[in-house]
Amino acid sequence: MPDEKNAEKSKKRKSQPAPVAAERPSRAEAEDAVRVLLRWAGDDPSREGLIDTPARVTRAYEEFFAGYAVDPREILSRTFSEVDGYDEMIVLKDIRFESYCEHHMVPIIGRAHVAYLPEHRVVGISKLARLVDAFAKRLQIQEKMTAQIADTLNEVLQPKGVGVILEAAHQCMSTRGVHKAGVEMVTSRMLGTFRTDPSTRREFLAIVGNSAVMSVPNS
Ligand SMILES: [Zn+2]
Repeated sequence: MPDEKNAEKSKKRKSQPAPVAAERPSRAEAEDAVRVLLRWAGDDPSREGLIDTPARVTRAYEEFFAGYAVDPREILSRTFSEVDGYDEMIVLKDIRFESYCEHHMVPIIGRAHVAYLPEHRVVGISKLARLVDAFAKRLQIQEKMTAQIADTLNEVLQPKGVGVILEAAHQCMSTRGVHKAGVEMVTSRMLGTFRTDPSTRREFLAIVGNSAVMSVPNS
């Protein structure tokens, strides 16, 4: 049963507005900017195959960066307190995400593993996936995104502990620069019992089941 009181309380807690550019350009301005980049790449924006590209790219950006319009705290605001005494770890693993490197604006594709040890309240499991998306669909660096997911979960649900691990491939590493494909970056943030209790952390890592992350330091 939904706990109205807790939902109310979460709403009252200071909300975290999505960062919004001071002045959002018009769609026409955004399309013009794409034309400039096409010319910068060395092509002709007026040739047939590229005529509709600026409009398509602008629409694609609305999908890529949909997270700016989402309040991550709002996603977690509806909690459930009747869990029949369930006090074990809740883990959602292998949540695929698509994000965008804030240095090169190219994709970061990866998987998130999100866990918490509830104190009293739990959220619907799909909310954890939506929380990941709210931060992924923005310009990001993986370290910041890992911390944002863990900190928001911790602040809103106030569980006994939170563990978040992200494993991702960065296209700015595979398609440019050092050109190293097949390399994944692993980041983690452990809070509460996930930080202080080695057995909790071990349980989480065993469930996630990736030997590569077994040695993740207590960060
Ligand atoms: Zn990059």
